[in-house]
Amino acid sequence: APGVREVRVAMTADRVTRKLVAVASGKGGVGKSTVATNLAVALSRAGSRVGLVDADIYGPSQPRLLGNEGQKPEARDKQLVPVPSEWGIPLLSMGHLVDPGQAIAWRGPMAGSALAQLVDAEWGDAELLVVDMPPGTGDVQLTMMQRFKPAGAVIVSTPQDLALMDAARAVSLFDQGGIPIVGLVENMAGYVCPHCGNVSDPFGSGGAEAAAREMGMPFLGRIPLDTTIRQESDAGRPVAAGEGPQAQAFARIAGRIAG
Ligand code: ADP
Repeated sequence: APGVREVRVAMTADRVTRKLVAVASGKGGVGKSTVATNLAVALSRAGSRVGLVDADIYGPSQPRLLGNEGQKPEARDKQLVPVPSEWGIPLLSMGHLVDPGQAIAWRGPMAGSALAQLVDAEWGDAELLVVDMPPGTGDVQLTMMQRFKPAGAVIVSTPQDLALMDAARAVSLFDQGGIPIVGLVENMAGYVCPHCGNVSDPFGSGGAEAAAREMGMPFLGRIPLDTTIRQESDAGRPVAAGEGPQAQAFARIAGRIAG
């Protein structure tokens, strides 16, 4: 698998060598943000210095997921200073800059300059920036690819065919931009019964892995639909920071990404 260590290195404006890994999906609601948070935590636990950029400009959810909502980043020499979190992952998000619930109704160029403020920030010694991309294939995605050239992209999809077709669109966007695809994460794959812990497969199993193979990209692993993931995410406690089977699942995927 082409892990991010082998692929191109992105240079930021401050000339520090720092890799950007984009976490993307073809549509919303597939758990892209949840996967981005937990991969950031898992990569950090595996020994990388990791920061998180919430590039989901119009629908930021990372302050909630990392549990540092309501804090404001400082500015130093015209650069934003990322907001620390309990999990050792500094974060920059529009969610830190606007009031919760406030609609962000910007045209593309404004969103693009907001994105630049988040990426070209005072990231200190972070060597890896996990970027939670907006869903779909719009202006912000183009700015991200052309201006910041991520070292690789992780695609998140649910097992349903429609979501996989959407995933194919996300893949083709990165292909066109010359950004290597690190691989596919299948989220909400199988259902963990909250009573007995058994895993069942309402949408079948193996479909996403086969689709990844067809699209010529590595399959990075499956994360089941698990009430614990939803509850802990809502409470600002990434499951990847814990010791349960959820943390192990994210650690395995992080291991494949780090190569
Ligand atoms: P996206 O970023 O793709 O819009 P989110 O990460 O915001 O999706 O997730 C959407 C909802 O699904 C959230 O409530 C989240 O807690 C929940 N969720 C995501 N992945 C899982 C999972 N594997 N198991 C249970 N709930 C999940």
